[in-house]
Amino acid sequence: MNNINELIYEGKAKKVFSHDDSNKVIIEFKDDATAFNAMKKAKFEGKGKLNCLISSRIFELLIKNNIPTHFLELKNENTIIAKKIKVIPLEIVLRNTAYGSLCKQTTIKPGTVLPKPLIDIYLKNDELNDPLITKDRIEILNIISPKDLDLIIDLTLKINVILKSFFKNIQLELVDFKLEFGYDCKNNILLGDEISPDNCRLWDLNQKNDIIVSLDKDRFRNDLGGLIEAYSEINRRINDFI
Ligand code: UDP
Repeated sequence: MNNINELIYEGKAKKVFSHDDSNKVIIEFKDDATAFNAMKKAKFEGKGKLNCLISSRIFELLIKNNIPTHFLELKNENTIIAKKIKVIPLEIVLRNTAYGSLCKQTTIKPGTVLPKPLIDIYLKNDELNDPLITKDRIEILNIISPKDLDLIIDLTLKINVILKSFFKNIQLELVDFKLEFGYDCKNNILLGDEISPDNCRLWDLNQKNDIIVSLDKDRFRNDLGGLIEAYSEINRRINDFI
């Protein structure tokens, strides 16, 4: 049976199609935006294309810095070709500055620069609302071995060093971001998913006073407007820099 380009999975922001090479997939970035576990939904024309271009540039940068990733090539403006991975059902969030759920769940004030990067791990499970999870619970649930979890944490810290300095060069503060990892056919751990303003908090450093100007999905979460303008600005700064 020929199953080239068959839709194999549709998520909130991406569609995954099969590739004629069974070790690869085609990933299409959608214009849909969701927040608060998809309680809030909208469509922004051009978002898929902007996230695809931004994420591709960032993955190229990570690959240059020896981070193993699923990214192979940009196919067209809203589609990439990636290595097929079995996604590990964990969301690895790294925070440099306190914001969002961290401030809702603790007494840490929004905007506090953390003394060291904080890693929060969530179980990827929509029905359970992606709960915060512990290392011990991950072990009991048999999701991954403690050794592989340590490897993922180590990769996340390395990615943070690369991304923080990259974004600083284009006048953006990397507040926090979410990563997903998976296993390829040889059981190597690879960074998957995307890195874009949909899953990073990026604040504009070109502001004279201390006000926070979000150039990320908080524009949608917090009804600030100007989401496409913000994502376009990030894409423009990346292209001007690289
Ligand atoms: N994040 C994400 N997907 C999620 C939850 C969070 O990409 O399902 C990203 C989010 O964009 C931010 C970081 O992870 O960059 C930390 O998000 P937080 O836990 O503060 O959650 P939120 O405030 O979005 O509820």
